[in-house]
Amino acid sequence: MELSDSYDLVVIGAGPGGYVAAVRAAQLGMKTACVEKEGSLGGACLNVGCIPSKALLDSTELYSLARHQFKEHGVGFGDLRADLSAMMQRKDRVVGELGEHVRKLLESHGVRVIRGMGRLRGPDTVEVRGEAEGSGRESTVLLQAKTILLATGSAPIQVPGLPFDGDRIVGSTEALAFGTVPASLGIVGGGYIGLELGSVWSRLGSRVTVLEMMPTIAGTLDGQMGRSLLRILGRQGMEFRLSTKVGRAEVVEEGVRVTIEAAGGEETHDFERLLVAVGRRPLTRDLGLDEVGVRVDSRTGQVWTDASCRTSVPTVYAIGDLVAGPMLAHKASAEGVAAVECMAGLPGEVNYDVIPAVVYTSPEVASVGLTEEQAKERGIPHRIGAFPFSGVGRAVCMGETDGFVKIIAHEHSDRILGVHILGPRASELIGECALAMELDARASDLARTIHAHPTLSESILEAARALSRVPFKK
Ligand code: FAD
Ligand code: NAD
Repeated sequence: MELSDSYDLVVIGAGPGGYVAAVRAAQLGMKTACVEKEGSLGGACLNVGCIPSKALLDSTELYSLARHQFKEHGVGFGDLRADLSAMMQRKDRVVGELGEHVRKLLESHGVRVIRGMGRLRGPDTVEVRGEAEGSGRESTVLLQAKTILLATGSAPIQVPGLPFDGDRIVGSTEALAFGTVPASLGIVGGGYIGLELGSVWSRLGSRVTVLEMMPTIAGTLDGQMGRSLLRILGRQGMEFRLSTKVGRAEVVEEGVRVTIEAAGGEETHDFERLLVAVGRRPLTRDLGLDEVGVRVDSRTGQVWTDASCRTSVPTVYAIGDLVAGPMLAHKASAEGVAAVECMAGLPGEVNYDVIPAVVYTSPEVASVGLTEEQAKERGIPHRIGAFPFSGVGRAVCMGETDGFVKIIAHEHSDRILGVHILGPRASELIGECALAMELDARASDLARTIHAHPTLSESILEAARALSRVPFKK
């Protein structure tokens, strides 16, 4: 065993939590190393998550627009076909390019990237097991660290009775790389992954059936948004079986036979492939947490942290999918920055009330803050202003009029409690709303802000006007 350098900070995991934290630490003058077990940097987000899924969503949306909407715009062409292999190659190129960008970013900030499996050996020691550089030999290195940041992310939850086999019964990683379009695709779980990857394969011609155990899809969404999205995706050809529990699945000659528990007894359904997307669990195994005394919540498996991302061991911090809160890349990055700033004695902070979230279906759904259901449950007096995209000039020009904006504001103070957008480019529109909430704006502030015409952002202006106390004349 070799004792290597000592560092101010050793980060374990180079996902959007870990690498962003490492860069911030270097900017603050900390001598930093980042340990990553995979050959590629960027974590689940860049390699098997946000980026490859959005690359495929973008390619298939263009295909879908060409099939269904170009004609309405007066654009015609001869032979239209989707080239799956070209789409997959493009996706891999996008991932590779961004991975290289992360490597250069870390290098340019002087962060040492160490390839290998990291684990705690003490409150100030990280053990890295991996191949000694260029030698092909297994080696173990010990790194001394004033502080350690755990950022090892998460992995898909496996359901008993639905064992992944890497081919017919798969998780999201494999469903991002199918070599052919499955004639039929069953999806267990109508959450983020089910809806996004369901959209990808449905647009390419697969018969997609989503089996969701709850009575709604995307349960974290505002109820009205979820119901509208369900209707729109249904119109696009995706099938939904809600309140449906999947008992088991077995690989049969032609594909996968799924047994579901229905009201009248058991039913079986056959699919060419089955994607299981029922959530993710924190990756805490083999990190040496018990030995060092890092507390883990026995129910959720998440590492316990305080408001500065510090674990029960004062020199060890944890962020991202490993800890409580939504499993989102930008939340992981925000925690990474906050954790490092706290280590440096700065007032690092994450505002958990203002974390935007987006489901990248078509149209997209984006939200920030409280849903109407949450405002009611908490007994907060509130008013709602809504506006449909069918009344927004730019949306009509684009031919994308499905959806609406919904703003929830405090009944008395007019403070914005939540904004929910179902509509074109909702992912971009939500930024303005998050900023407004971060700056503690009132709905009337949004209503008074001049928005360019004609733009999609006028939907926010109109929804704010709909509930604003300021009397408007159109
Ligand atoms: P990760 O990104 O998982 O990174 C952890 C890193 O740690 C990995 O590189 C891993 O190899 C490494 N590691 C683990 N254990 C060790 C060890 N012992 N030693 C060394 N290295 C180790 N979020 C969004 O915000 N927007 C999206 O559009 C989005 N789309 C998604 C699509 C899919 C299909 C999936 C699966 C997820 C998506 N997510 C999305 C979620 C997002 O990917 C995660 O929330 C995010 O990656 C969490 O970041 P992290 O840094 O905590 O962990
Ligand atoms: P999810 O939590 O979004 O959805 C899981 C769904 O599966 C839920 O609706 C749940 O009710 C359902 N479910 C659970 N057990 C079931 C069962 N046995 N049978 C039928 N349904 C069942 O999880 P996911 O879709 O796997 O995604 C994992 C995480 O990755 C998400 O929580 C999200 O944080 C992140 N993600 C984010 C994005 C994005 O930001 N656009 C995209 C993909 C993934």
